[in-house]
Amino acid sequence: MSTGKKEPKMPPKSAATPSAQPLDQGPDQDAIGAMLTQALLSRGAAVPADNAAPAASIPPVGEQRCGLIAIVGKPNVGKSTLLNALVGQKISITSRKAQTTRHRITGMRTRDATQFVFVDTPGFQTRHSNALNRSLNRTVVGAVNDVDLIVFVVEAGQFNQADARVLSLLPEKIPAILLANKFDLIHRRAEIAPWLKEMQERHNFAEFVPMSANNAKDVERLFGICEKYLPLQPWMYGADELTDRSDRFMAAEIIREKLFRLTGDELPYTSTVLIDQYEEEGNLRKIAATIVVERDGHKGMIIGEKGEKLKRIGTEARHELEALTGGKVFLEIWVKVRSGWADDEARVKTFGYE
Ligand code: GDP
Ligand code: MG
Repeated sequence: MSTGKKEPKMPPKSAATPSAQPLDQGPDQDAIGAMLTQALLSRGAAVPADNAAPAASIPPVGEQRCGLIAIVGKPNVGKSTLLNALVGQKISITSRKAQTTRHRITGMRTRDATQFVFVDTPGFQTRHSNALNRSLNRTVVGAVNDVDLIVFVVEAGQFNQADARVLSLLPEKIPAILLANKFDLIHRRAEIAPWLKEMQERHNFAEFVPMSANNAKDVERLFGICEKYLPLQPWMYGADELTDRSDRFMAAEIIREKLFRLTGDELPYTSTVLIDQYEEEGNLRKIAATIVVERDGHKGMIIGEKGEKLKRIGTEARHELEALTGGKVFLEIWVKVRSGWADDEARVKTFGYE
């Protein structure tokens, strides 16, 4: 991605949106407040009539724009929610638990002449240093150095040590947007002005975007903001491709999401899902999966009383897989104990982590 660019990465100042007004002109909170209001008012401008359909006709190669955008931030700030909204379909699982995303997930969206290739990363892990977390961290560092634009996601009004760790990984040479997510949770918007100023001092952000990943108009606006940082170059994927991940991978991820959502905090994040069988027969998919946990006690938590919990995990996963594939799904899930897998480098690799 770093060769053959026909454009500088930083757009001219005049191309900036109102949200990109310099914040370094003194602590004028009224001005920042006005800017915020302006940024919010400009939400939803230029919403195309049909945002789900791929480009109607493929533009000539010389007019195609395409680039990589890394979505980074500490766990639980809303990165996967954002990626799904940008792609227009769920391709990255989400949950209230930190450490849900474990792989680098690529999602694409092609709109008019521009193909956006988004890379969702696991949040940077700092709490434990085991083989799984070391692998997750390598994924994050690998993702940010080879992209055209970085979207650094934080929760609006917040910034702690975990955010700082991720921010410290961002290379100066790649433009970064500060995306202040979960803006819907901020009730008095003016109160965010001092925080905003502080954030601008922490890194040379190209733009500041207060928004909510679950607000469709905000997501629309984000496309326009990102577009100008992408170089003129031929598309890397077909116009209607949404992800580079296989159906098999998606099946494992969907089961893992249900597992995370339906079990309490007692179940450590180290449990994982393996697909043992994925067969297509006409409109039917036969899927057999194994949930791997570290201890016998965890197995009980997943199975639940009279198998209730596992049954629910299976039912919810099956419904979602049926919606995704548009066909019938026959799903079988087993639970196995493999103690210490998350501490074992070789095993982390065999389970598909980079
Ligand atoms: P990730 O770990 O950064 O990928 O975060 P997720 O996408 O898994 O989201 C973590 C939690 O935040 C989930 O419960 C989401 O529903 C929630 N969330 C994400 N975006 C927003 C938002 O804009 N507003 C609110 N209120 N919640 C959000
Ligand atoms: Mg995630």
